[in-house]
Amino acid sequence: MADSASSLGIPDAPPIEGARHLHSGKVRDLYELTEGPYAGGLLMVASDRISAYDFVLDTTIPDKGEILTRMSLWWFDQLADLVPHHVLSTDVPAAVRGRAVVCERLEMFPVECVARGYLTGSGLADYRATASEGHSVCGIALPAGLEDGSRLPEPIFTPATKADLGDHDENVDYDAVVATVGADDAARLRELTLQVYARAEAVARERGIVLADTKLEFGRRSDPSTGSRQAREIVLGDEVLTPDSSRFWPADQWQPGRTQPSYDKQIVRDWLTSPESGWDRSSGEAPPPLPAEVVERTRARYLEAYELLTGQRW
Ligand code: ATP
Ligand code: MG
Repeated sequence: MADSASSLGIPDAPPIEGARHLHSGKVRDLYELTEGPYAGGLLMVASDRISAYDFVLDTTIPDKGEILTRMSLWWFDQLADLVPHHVLSTDVPAAVRGRAVVCERLEMFPVECVARGYLTGSGLADYRATASEGHSVCGIALPAGLEDGSRLPEPIFTPATKADLGDHDENVDYDAVVATVGADDAARLRELTLQVYARAEAVARERGIVLADTKLEFGRRSDPSTGSRQAREIVLGDEVLTPDSSRFWPADQWQPGRTQPSYDKQIVRDWLTSPESGWDRSSGEAPPPLPAEVVERTRARYLEAYELLTGQRW
């Protein structure tokens, strides 16, 4: 059963003039624009919220929303020759300038399109759980002997179902995607996901970063004037290749067989599970606020990832 937004710690989305609130996720708030040149379009606002262990923390990370928005925009550009994206404009209401984009509303495929080049997280859990049948992730057979952080023989498509708020996404096999969206779209989603991963992995590697895995969401352009359903283009939506949707590891510290250091909320997770925080993960209670020093180190980590990847100074 899904939790309500408030029990996850998601605050009410602030009203924005000229927009109507539609939905709040753990980190982002989604609005529909009601006036201006993009009326009817979506306003996707990245907040400074951070989530860990399925809780939205009380503490925010200054500039996180803007850092991730800029990173996502930079990637959409890098990928533009592979797949069209949903961003229409960065000219957004003043209250959310820098951390929001206007995007076209798509009919989203109810599939989290994940590509993995390395084994960790839920992929590793599946790999271990299938040991008796010979190791697989999402139905894809893998060699024995892989450990946490191992590079896979080749990148794989490991889709997941989109869970309700507060529920975990569930890894599924390719046949489940075919059953949900049909064979043609399933094949295209897999192809696009692996193409995007290959491109992004190469870009990141040049900059000293391992892209271990990433989650993409695609939709279909819903403009009825563009013809039959099948003819309507598949478009890359949501956010892309941010530390909230992907695992980025410093390449020079990559060492299979342990948890890899990463450019995301690892600092937060480590602190929460240390004795210092006084928090018991199994208690079901909300985590305590983060100390200023943990906030600053986390912010610096996001900034470092942004600057390394994009080559741009913040
Ligand atoms: P979580 O916090 O676990 O990510 P969530 O996915 O419900 O929860 P968000 O990611 O903040 O929360 O929500 C963004 C929502 O917008 C997602 O449901 C996503 O599929 C959807 N979305 C992204 N791009 C578009 C688009 N162009 N058109 C329509 N919906 C979109
Ligand atoms: Mg989401």
